[in-house]
Amino acid sequence: MTGFSTRAIRASARAPRVDQDPTSVPIYQTATFASEDADELDAVLLGSQPGYAYSRLDNPTTTALADAIAELEGAEAAHIFGSGMAAIHAALVALAGAGDRIVASNAVYGSTQSLLVNVLGRLGIRTDFVDATDRDAIAAALADGPARILYAETLSNPTMIVADHGALAGLAHTYGAAYIVDNTFASPYVCRPLEHGADLVVESATKYIGGHSDVLAGTVAGRAELIAEVRRVQIDTGAALAPLAAFLVLRGLATLGVRLDRHAATSAALAGWLERQDGVRQVRHPLLPSHPGSDIVARQFHGASGMFAFELDGGRTAARAFIDALQIPARTASLGSIHTMVVHPPSTTHRQLDDTALAAAGIGPGLLRCSIGLEDTDDLLADFAAGLEAARGATPAPASA
Ligand SMILES: *Cc1c(COP(=O)(O)O)cnc(C)c1O
Repeated sequence: MTGFSTRAIRASARAPRVDQDPTSVPIYQTATFASEDADELDAVLLGSQPGYAYSRLDNPTTTALADAIAELEGAEAAHIFGSGMAAIHAALVALAGAGDRIVASNAVYGSTQSLLVNVLGRLGIRTDFVDATDRDAIAAALADGPARILYAETLSNPTMIVADHGALAGLAHTYGAAYIVDNTFASPYVCRPLEHGADLVVESATKYIGGHSDVLAGTVAGRAELIAEVRRVQIDTGAALAPLAAFLVLRGLATLGVRLDRHAATSAALAGWLERQDGVRQVRHPLLPSHPGSDIVARQFHGASGMFAFELDGGRTAARAFIDALQIPARTASLGSIHTMVVHPPSTTHRQLDDTALAAAGIGPGLLRCSIGLEDTDDLLADFAAGLEAARGATPAPASA
Protein backbone atom coordinates (compact mmCIF):
# COMPACT_ATOMS: atom_id res chain seq x y z
CA MET A 1 0.00 0.00 0.00
CA THR A 2 1.48 3.35 -1.02
CA GLY A 3 1.37 6.32 1.34
CA PHE A 4 -1.52 8.75 1.57
CA SER A 5 0.14 11.55 -0.39
CA THR A 6 1.19 9.26 -3.22
CA ARG A 7 -2.39 8.00 -3.49
CA ALA A 8 -3.82 11.53 -3.22
CA ILE A 9 -1.60 12.75 -6.07
CA ARG A 10 -2.56 9.84 -8.33
CA ALA A 11 -6.23 9.81 -7.39
CA SER A 12 -6.67 13.50 -8.05
CA ALA A 13 -5.13 13.35 -11.54
CA ARG A 14 -7.17 10.51 -13.08
CA ALA A 15 -9.18 12.03 -15.95
CA PRO A 16 -12.41 10.12 -16.67
CA ARG A 17 -12.79 8.51 -20.05
CA VAL A 18 -15.47 10.35 -22.06
CA ASP A 19 -17.05 8.55 -25.03
CA GLN A 20 -19.52 11.31 -25.92
CA ASP A 21 -18.27 14.58 -27.44
CA PRO A 22 -18.66 17.58 -25.14
CA THR A 23 -20.54 20.42 -26.87
CA SER A 24 -18.01 22.99 -25.69
CA VAL A 25 -14.23 22.63 -25.67
CA PRO A 26 -13.01 21.43 -22.24
CA ILE A 27 -10.51 23.56 -20.36
CA TYR A 28 -7.38 21.37 -20.32
CA GLN A 29 -6.02 22.94 -17.15
CA THR A 30 -2.70 21.12 -17.17
CA ALA A 31 0.90 22.09 -17.81
CA THR A 32 2.05 18.57 -18.70
CA PHE A 33 0.78 15.52 -20.64
CA ALA A 34 1.98 11.97 -20.05
CA SER A 35 3.08 9.75 -22.96
CA GLU A 36 2.91 5.92 -23.19
CA ASP A 37 6.69 5.52 -23.12
CA ALA A 38 9.97 7.46 -23.46
CA ASP A 39 10.01 7.09 -27.26
CA GLU A 40 6.58 8.67 -27.61
CA LEU A 41 7.51 11.55 -25.30
CA ASP A 42 10.65 12.23 -27.39
CA ALA A 43 8.67 12.08 -30.63
CA VAL A 44 5.96 14.45 -29.35
CA LEU A 45 8.50 16.92 -27.97
CA LEU A 46 10.42 16.87 -31.25
CA GLY A 47 7.22 17.30 -33.22
CA SER A 48 7.80 14.16 -35.30
CA GLN A 49 4.56 12.74 -33.84
CA PRO A 50 1.42 14.84 -33.19
CA GLY A 51 0.44 15.08 -29.55
CA TYR A 52 0.78 17.05 -26.38
CA ALA A 53 3.70 17.21 -23.98
CA TYR A 54 3.86 20.65 -22.37
CA SER A 55 1.34 23.50 -22.52
CA ARG A 56 3.84 26.20 -23.54
CA LEU A 57 4.22 24.22 -26.77
CA ASP A 58 0.62 23.09 -27.29
CA ASN A 59 -2.52 22.73 -25.23
CA PRO A 60 -5.75 21.18 -26.59
CA THR A 61 -7.98 24.13 -25.60
CA THR A 62 -5.58 26.61 -27.19
CA THR A 63 -5.17 24.40 -30.27
CA ALA A 64 -8.98 24.34 -30.65
CA LEU A 65 -8.92 28.15 -30.63
CA ALA A 66 -6.05 28.25 -33.17
CA ASP A 67 -7.98 25.95 -35.52
CA ALA A 68 -11.14 28.04 -35.17
CA ILE A 69 -9.25 31.27 -35.88
CA ALA A 70 -7.53 29.74 -38.93
CA GLU A 71 -10.90 28.71 -40.34
CA LEU A 72 -12.55 32.08 -39.74
CA GLU A 73 -9.59 34.13 -41.06
CA GLY A 74 -9.48 31.92 -44.17
CA ALA A 75 -5.95 30.75 -43.26
CA GLU A 76 -4.05 27.46 -43.48
CA ALA A 77 -2.93 27.82 -39.88
CA ALA A 78 -2.99 30.09 -36.84
CA HIS A 79 -1.15 30.43 -33.56
CA ILE A 80 -2.46 31.83 -30.28
CA PHE A 81 -0.73 34.16 -27.81
CA GLY A 82 -1.19 35.56 -24.33
CA SER A 83 -1.99 39.03 -25.71
CA GLY A 84 -2.26 40.99 -28.93
CA MET A 85 1.18 42.54 -28.39
CA ALA A 86 2.75 39.08 -27.97
CA ALA A 87 1.15 38.06 -31.28
CA ILE A 88 2.44 41.18 -33.06
CA HIS A 89 5.94 40.71 -31.60
CA ALA A 90 6.10 37.08 -32.75
CA ALA A 91 4.79 37.89 -36.25
CA LEU A 92 7.41 40.62 -36.70
CA VAL A 93 10.44 38.77 -35.34
CA ALA A 94 9.47 35.59 -37.18
CA LEU A 95 10.14 37.48 -40.44
CA ALA A 96 12.72 40.14 -39.52
CA GLY A 97 16.08 40.06 -37.74
CA ALA A 98 19.07 42.30 -37.05
CA GLY A 99 19.97 44.41 -40.09
CA ASP A 100 16.47 44.11 -41.61
CA ARG A 101 14.09 46.96 -42.33
CA ILE A 102 10.33 47.29 -41.80
CA VAL A 103 8.05 49.84 -43.46
CA ALA A 104 5.03 50.60 -41.25
CA SER A 105 2.01 52.86 -41.31
CA ASN A 106 2.57 55.97 -39.19
CA ALA A 107 -0.90 55.46 -37.65
CA VAL A 108 -0.33 52.17 -35.80
CA TYR A 109 -1.43 51.27 -32.26
CA GLY A 110 0.72 53.02 -29.64
CA SER A 111 2.38 49.90 -28.20
CA THR A 112 3.09 48.61 -31.71
CA GLN A 113 4.89 51.87 -32.51
CA SER A 114 6.87 51.54 -29.29
CA LEU A 115 7.66 47.86 -29.99
CA LEU A 116 9.01 48.79 -33.43
CA VAL A 117 11.05 51.77 -32.22
CA ASN A 118 12.13 50.90 -28.68
CA VAL A 119 12.33 47.09 -28.67
CA LEU A 120 13.09 46.02 -32.24
CA GLY A 121 15.05 49.21 -32.92
CA ARG A 122 17.47 48.31 -30.12
CA LEU A 123 17.90 44.84 -31.64
CA GLY A 124 18.98 46.25 -35.00
CA ILE A 125 15.65 46.18 -36.87
CA ARG A 126 14.93 49.60 -38.39
CA THR A 127 11.40 50.82 -39.08
CA ASP A 128 10.48 53.61 -41.50
CA PHE A 129 7.01 55.06 -40.88
CA VAL A 130 4.87 56.28 -43.79
CA ASP A 131 1.34 57.47 -44.48
CA ALA A 132 -0.37 54.20 -45.44
CA THR A 133 -2.97 56.04 -47.55
CA ASP A 134 -0.21 57.51 -49.77
CA ARG A 135 0.74 54.80 -52.29
CA ASP A 136 3.63 56.82 -53.70
CA ALA A 137 5.10 57.30 -50.22
CA ILE A 138 4.82 53.56 -49.52
CA ALA A 139 6.38 52.64 -52.87
CA ALA A 140 9.21 55.13 -52.24
CA ALA A 141 9.84 53.72 -48.75
CA LEU A 142 9.82 50.13 -50.04
CA ALA A 143 12.14 51.07 -52.91
CA ASP A 144 14.53 52.79 -50.52
CA GLY A 145 16.41 49.52 -49.81
CA PRO A 146 15.37 45.98 -49.02
CA ALA A 147 12.39 45.76 -46.64
CA ARG A 148 11.25 42.52 -45.04
CA ILE A 149 7.80 43.67 -43.91
CA LEU A 150 5.10 46.19 -44.80
CA TYR A 151 2.90 46.64 -41.72
CA ALA A 152 -0.52 48.34 -41.54
CA GLU A 153 -3.82 48.25 -39.67
CA THR A 154 -7.20 47.64 -41.35
CA LEU A 155 -8.66 50.71 -39.63
CA SER A 156 -6.35 53.39 -38.28
CA ASN A 157 -6.64 54.61 -34.71
CA PRO A 158 -8.30 57.06 -34.14
CA THR A 159 -8.65 58.49 -37.65
CA MET A 160 -10.62 55.50 -39.02
CA ILE A 161 -8.73 55.47 -42.32
CA VAL A 162 -9.32 52.16 -44.16
CA ALA A 163 -6.19 50.44 -45.53
CA ASP A 164 -6.54 49.21 -49.11
CA HIS A 165 -5.21 45.68 -48.49
CA GLY A 166 -5.19 44.65 -52.16
CA ALA A 167 -3.08 47.66 -53.13
CA LEU A 168 -0.75 47.42 -50.12
CA ALA A 169 -0.20 43.65 -50.56
CA GLY A 170 0.58 44.25 -54.25
CA LEU A 171 3.13 46.95 -53.39
CA ALA A 172 4.75 44.84 -50.66
CA HIS A 173 5.11 41.82 -52.97
CA THR A 174 6.50 43.95 -55.82
CA TYR A 175 9.36 44.93 -53.51
CA GLY A 176 9.83 41.47 -51.96
CA ALA A 177 8.30 42.33 -48.57
CA ALA A 178 5.69 40.39 -46.61
CA TYR A 179 2.45 42.28 -45.86
CA ILE A 180 1.32 41.98 -42.22
CA VAL A 181 -2.03 43.44 -41.11
CA ASP A 182 -3.39 44.21 -37.64
CA ASN A 183 -7.13 43.59 -38.14
CA THR A 184 -8.20 44.24 -34.53
CA PHE A 185 -10.59 47.18 -35.20
CA ALA A 186 -12.50 45.14 -37.80
CA SER A 187 -12.36 41.46 -36.69
CA PRO A 188 -12.46 38.54 -39.15
CA TYR A 189 -16.26 38.86 -39.44
CA VAL A 190 -15.93 42.31 -41.02
CA CYS A 191 -12.65 41.95 -42.94
CA ARG A 192 -10.33 39.06 -43.81
CA PRO A 193 -7.04 40.62 -45.00
CA LEU A 194 -5.61 37.23 -46.12
CA GLU A 195 -8.32 37.13 -48.83
CA HIS A 196 -6.95 40.45 -50.13
CA GLY A 197 -3.32 39.33 -50.36
CA ALA A 198 -1.94 39.80 -46.82
CA ASP A 199 0.68 37.25 -45.72
CA LEU A 200 -0.11 37.33 -42.00
CA VAL A 201 -3.04 38.79 -40.07
CA VAL A 202 -2.74 39.59 -36.37
CA GLU A 203 -5.62 40.33 -34.00
CA SER A 204 -5.83 41.44 -30.41
CA ALA A 205 -8.48 38.87 -29.43
CA THR A 206 -8.82 40.95 -26.26
CA LYS A 207 -11.10 43.17 -28.36
CA TYR A 208 -13.92 41.93 -30.66
CA ILE A 209 -12.99 38.22 -30.82
CA GLY A 210 -13.16 37.80 -27.03
CA GLY A 211 -15.67 40.63 -27.04
CA HIS A 212 -16.46 41.02 -23.35
CA SER A 213 -13.36 42.84 -22.01
CA ASP A 214 -12.68 39.99 -19.60
CA VAL A 215 -9.69 38.20 -21.19
CA LEU A 216 -6.42 39.11 -22.96
CA ALA A 217 -5.35 37.11 -26.02
CA GLY A 218 -3.73 37.50 -29.44
CA THR A 219 -3.78 35.57 -32.72
CA VAL A 220 -1.63 35.28 -35.85
CA ALA A 221 -2.97 33.53 -38.97
CA GLY A 222 -1.55 32.81 -42.42
CA ARG A 223 0.20 30.18 -44.54
CA ALA A 224 1.35 27.06 -42.66
CA GLU A 225 5.06 27.65 -43.31
CA LEU A 226 4.90 31.20 -41.91
CA ILE A 227 2.89 30.10 -38.88
CA ALA A 228 5.54 27.43 -38.20
CA GLU A 229 8.10 30.29 -37.92
CA VAL A 230 5.73 32.27 -35.67
CA ARG A 231 5.25 29.21 -33.45
CA ARG A 232 9.02 28.73 -33.09
CA VAL A 233 9.30 32.30 -31.75
CA GLN A 234 6.45 31.68 -29.31
CA ILE A 235 7.96 28.47 -27.93
CA ASP A 236 11.19 30.24 -26.97
CA THR A 237 9.69 33.55 -25.85
CA GLY A 238 6.87 31.96 -23.88
CA ALA A 239 3.80 34.14 -24.44
CA ALA A 240 1.43 31.16 -24.38
CA LEU A 241 -2.28 31.63 -23.67
CA ALA A 242 -3.64 29.84 -20.59
CA PRO A 243 -6.32 27.17 -21.26
CA LEU A 244 -9.03 29.01 -19.29
CA ALA A 245 -8.36 32.16 -21.29
CA ALA A 246 -8.56 30.15 -24.54
CA PHE A 247 -11.95 28.82 -23.41
CA LEU A 248 -13.21 32.35 -22.78
CA VAL A 249 -12.03 33.49 -26.22
CA LEU A 250 -13.74 30.47 -27.84
CA ARG A 251 -16.95 31.39 -26.06
CA GLY A 252 -16.69 34.95 -27.40
CA LEU A 253 -15.80 33.79 -30.90
CA ALA A 254 -19.03 31.78 -31.20
CA THR A 255 -21.11 34.98 -31.17
CA LEU A 256 -18.71 37.24 -33.13
CA GLY A 257 -21.07 37.60 -36.12
CA VAL A 258 -24.23 38.48 -34.20
CA ARG A 259 -22.33 40.87 -31.94
CA LEU A 260 -20.67 42.63 -34.88
CA ASP A 261 -23.98 43.04 -36.73
CA ARG A 262 -25.37 44.80 -33.67
CA HIS A 263 -22.17 46.83 -33.03
CA ALA A 264 -22.32 48.01 -36.67
CA ALA A 265 -26.03 48.86 -36.68
CA THR A 266 -25.86 50.87 -33.45
CA SER A 267 -22.60 52.65 -34.28
CA ALA A 268 -23.87 53.58 -37.76
CA ALA A 269 -27.11 54.94 -36.26
CA LEU A 270 -25.18 57.08 -33.76
CA ALA A 271 -22.68 58.27 -36.37
CA GLY A 272 -25.45 59.24 -38.82
CA TRP A 273 -27.30 61.10 -36.07
CA LEU A 274 -24.12 62.93 -34.94
CA GLU A 275 -23.47 64.07 -38.50
CA ARG A 276 -26.73 66.08 -38.37
CA GLN A 277 -26.05 67.80 -35.00
CA ASP A 278 -24.83 71.35 -34.33
CA GLY A 279 -21.39 71.50 -32.76
CA VAL A 280 -20.16 68.37 -34.57
CA ARG A 281 -17.53 69.16 -37.17
CA GLN A 282 -16.88 65.78 -38.75
CA VAL A 283 -17.89 62.12 -38.29
CA ARG A 284 -15.72 59.22 -39.53
CA HIS A 285 -17.60 55.93 -39.76
CA PRO A 286 -16.80 53.36 -42.49
CA LEU A 287 -20.50 53.00 -43.38
CA LEU A 288 -21.19 56.74 -43.83
CA PRO A 289 -21.18 57.85 -47.48
CA SER A 290 -18.98 60.77 -46.34
CA HIS A 291 -16.13 58.37 -45.41
CA PRO A 292 -13.17 59.00 -47.76
CA GLY A 293 -12.55 55.25 -48.14
CA SER A 294 -16.12 54.27 -49.07
CA ASP A 295 -15.03 52.42 -52.22
CA ILE A 296 -12.48 50.35 -50.24
CA VAL A 297 -15.10 49.65 -47.57
CA ALA A 298 -17.48 48.39 -50.27
CA ARG A 299 -14.80 46.04 -51.67
CA GLN A 300 -13.26 44.87 -48.45
CA PHE A 301 -15.76 45.01 -45.57
CA HIS A 302 -18.80 43.04 -44.58
CA GLY A 303 -20.63 45.73 -42.60
CA ALA A 304 -18.50 47.46 -39.95
CA SER A 305 -17.58 47.22 -36.28
CA GLY A 306 -18.59 49.48 -33.42
CA MET A 307 -15.65 51.83 -34.05
CA PHE A 308 -16.02 55.41 -35.24
CA ALA A 309 -14.65 58.86 -34.47
CA PHE A 310 -16.12 62.34 -34.49
CA GLU A 311 -14.82 65.83 -33.88
CA LEU A 312 -16.48 68.48 -31.76
CA ASP A 313 -16.24 72.16 -32.70
CA GLY A 314 -15.31 73.15 -29.16
CA GLY A 315 -11.91 71.40 -29.03
CA ARG A 316 -10.48 69.84 -25.88
CA THR A 317 -12.87 71.56 -23.46
CA ALA A 318 -15.93 70.33 -25.36
CA ALA A 319 -14.53 66.81 -25.76
CA ARG A 320 -13.81 66.42 -22.06
CA ALA A 321 -17.23 67.84 -21.11
CA PHE A 322 -18.85 65.35 -23.53
CA ILE A 323 -17.10 62.37 -21.92
CA ASP A 324 -17.81 63.51 -18.37
CA ALA A 325 -21.53 63.97 -19.15
CA LEU A 326 -21.98 60.40 -20.42
CA GLN A 327 -23.79 58.03 -18.06
CA ILE A 328 -23.52 54.71 -19.98
CA PRO A 329 -19.82 54.32 -20.91
CA ALA A 330 -17.35 53.66 -18.13
CA ARG A 331 -14.30 55.93 -18.37
CA THR A 332 -11.90 53.34 -19.75
CA ALA A 333 -9.64 53.24 -22.78
CA SER A 334 -10.12 49.89 -24.48
CA LEU A 335 -12.42 48.84 -27.35
CA GLY A 336 -14.26 45.97 -29.01
CA SER A 337 -16.44 45.09 -26.03
CA ILE A 338 -20.12 44.65 -25.13
CA HIS A 339 -19.58 47.88 -23.14
CA THR A 340 -19.53 51.22 -24.98
CA MET A 341 -16.27 53.11 -24.48
CA VAL A 342 -15.51 56.69 -25.53
CA VAL A 343 -12.00 58.12 -25.38
CA HIS A 344 -10.40 61.46 -26.15
CA PRO A 345 -7.18 60.49 -28.01
CA PRO A 346 -5.47 63.92 -27.64
CA SER A 347 -5.44 63.49 -23.86
CA THR A 348 -5.03 59.68 -23.67
CA THR A 349 -3.62 57.47 -26.45
CA HIS A 350 -1.94 60.39 -28.28
CA ARG A 351 -1.07 62.66 -25.34
CA GLN A 352 2.65 62.72 -26.30
CA LEU A 353 1.72 64.76 -29.41
CA ASP A 354 1.31 68.58 -29.33
CA ASP A 355 -1.46 70.26 -31.37
CA THR A 356 0.78 70.65 -34.46
CA ALA A 357 1.77 66.98 -34.43
CA LEU A 358 -1.86 66.02 -33.77
CA ALA A 359 -3.00 68.08 -36.77
CA ALA A 360 -0.34 66.41 -38.94
CA ALA A 361 -1.78 63.03 -37.86
CA GLY A 362 -5.31 64.18 -38.78
CA ILE A 363 -6.40 64.39 -35.13
CA GLY A 364 -8.27 67.57 -34.16
CA PRO A 365 -8.20 68.67 -30.49
CA GLY A 366 -11.94 67.85 -30.18
CA LEU A 367 -11.73 64.32 -31.64
CA LEU A 368 -13.49 61.51 -29.76
CA ARG A 369 -13.11 57.80 -30.52
CA CYS A 370 -16.10 55.57 -29.84
CA SER A 371 -16.31 51.81 -29.46
CA ILE A 372 -20.04 51.22 -29.41
CA GLY A 373 -21.14 48.23 -27.33
CA LEU A 374 -24.33 46.19 -27.29
CA GLU A 375 -26.48 48.53 -25.18
CA ASP A 376 -29.82 49.69 -26.60
CA THR A 377 -29.50 52.29 -29.37
CA ASP A 378 -32.10 54.67 -27.88
CA ASP A 379 -30.30 54.75 -24.53
CA LEU A 380 -26.99 55.56 -26.22
CA LEU A 381 -28.64 58.25 -28.41
CA ALA A 382 -30.08 59.91 -25.30
CA ASP A 383 -26.71 59.71 -23.55
CA PHE A 384 -24.87 61.18 -26.55
CA ALA A 385 -27.49 63.97 -26.80
CA ALA A 386 -26.78 64.87 -23.16
CA GLY A 387 -23.05 64.75 -23.94
CA LEU A 388 -23.50 67.19 -26.84
CA GLU A 389 -25.52 69.55 -24.61
CA ALA A 390 -22.69 69.56 -22.07
CA ALA A 391 -20.09 70.02 -24.83
CA ARG A 392 -21.92 73.06 -26.25
CA GLY A 393 -22.27 74.54 -22.77
CA ALA A 394 -18.55 74.04 -22.05
CA THR A 395 -17.38 75.69 -25.26
CA PRO A 396 -15.83 79.07 -24.49
CA ALA A 397 -17.91 81.79 -26.20
CA PRO A 398 -16.08 83.30 -29.21
CA ALA A 399 -14.60 86.72 -28.40
CA SER A 400 -17.00 89.41 -29.68
CA ALA A 401 -15.64 91.86 -32.22
C1 LIG B 1 -5.42 46.47 -28.11
C2 LIG B 1 -4.69 46.47 -29.41
C3 LIG B 1 -3.46 45.81 -29.54
C4 LIG B 1 -2.77 45.13 -28.38
O1 LIG B 1 -3.51 44.06 -27.92
P1 LIG B 1 -3.40 43.50 -26.40
O2 LIG B 1 -4.30 42.34 -26.41
O3 LIG B 1 -3.83 44.63 -25.50
O4 LIG B 1 -1.96 43.15 -26.19
C5 LIG B 1 -2.85 45.83 -30.78
N1 LIG B 1 -3.41 46.46 -31.83
C6 LIG B 1 -4.58 47.11 -31.74
C7 LIG B 1 -5.13 47.79 -32.94
C8 LIG B 1 -5.27 47.14 -30.53
O5 LIG B 1 -6.43 47.79 -30.44
